[in-house]
Amino acid sequence: MKTIGLIGGMSWESTITYYEILNKEIAERLGGFHSAKIVMYNVDFADIEHNMTHENWYGNSKILSDAAKKLENAGADFIVIATNTMHKLVSSIQQNITIPILHIADATSNCIQRSGINTVGLLGTKFTMTQDFITGSLNDADIEVIIPYEHDMNIINDIIFNELCFGKVFDSSREEFKRIISDMHDRGADGVILGCTEIGMLVSDKDSVIPVFDTTKIHALEAAIYALA
Ligand code: GLU
Repeated sequence: MKTIGLIGGMSWESTITYYEILNKEIAERLGGFHSAKIVMYNVDFADIEHNMTHENWYGNSKILSDAAKKLENAGADFIVIATNTMHKLVSSIQQNITIPILHIADATSNCIQRSGINTVGLLGTKFTMTQDFITGSLNDADIEVIIPYEHDMNIINDIIFNELCFGKVFDSSREEFKRIISDMHDRGADGVILGCTEIGMLVSDKDSVIPVFDTTKIHALEAAIYALA
């Protein structure tokens, strides 16, 4: 079994889900007392969030590159970055290490392709929805991506950073997500990507008129499979 190098803490609420899925999947696949081999670096999210707010991507790249290097030195065979937004920095982080990074968008596009769906809505931080570090990989796989209207993007971003990253789950916010998903469905989306690792705390299949692709579950499952490959 390969050792997973998990960079967590972005936010730690969703890292719990990664940790749980990785161990459950390995246990299920190998049986008995088996569990995942993980070395984890949990960043201080205050630093990451401060740098994001000030668009200091160099600062975040440095924090995450240092974390990845430490995990490589600690024996990790590959890296899992437990957040969508920081995948913006994958190429600069990769330059600092010799082990591969398992990209969240590649895992997600593979999963969507297997479902046969061609057009999806994307929910995530404003960076994720408006830039191409996630959509690029989807478009390369011939998956068309619909993003929410500006006003709704602000609502989603606020819910992520003011509520979900603090573990707060409100019915009123779930209703907003349901409305936004229905709207994207009306605009042609046949599935929706939960492209922020905390959204799964709020929204699941039962809240959506279209199939949900939860990047946290997809990424963690792919990591467990890769660890055993
Ligand atoms: N975890 C979130 C994501 O998947 C947002 C928090 C962050 O920016 O790291 O994008």
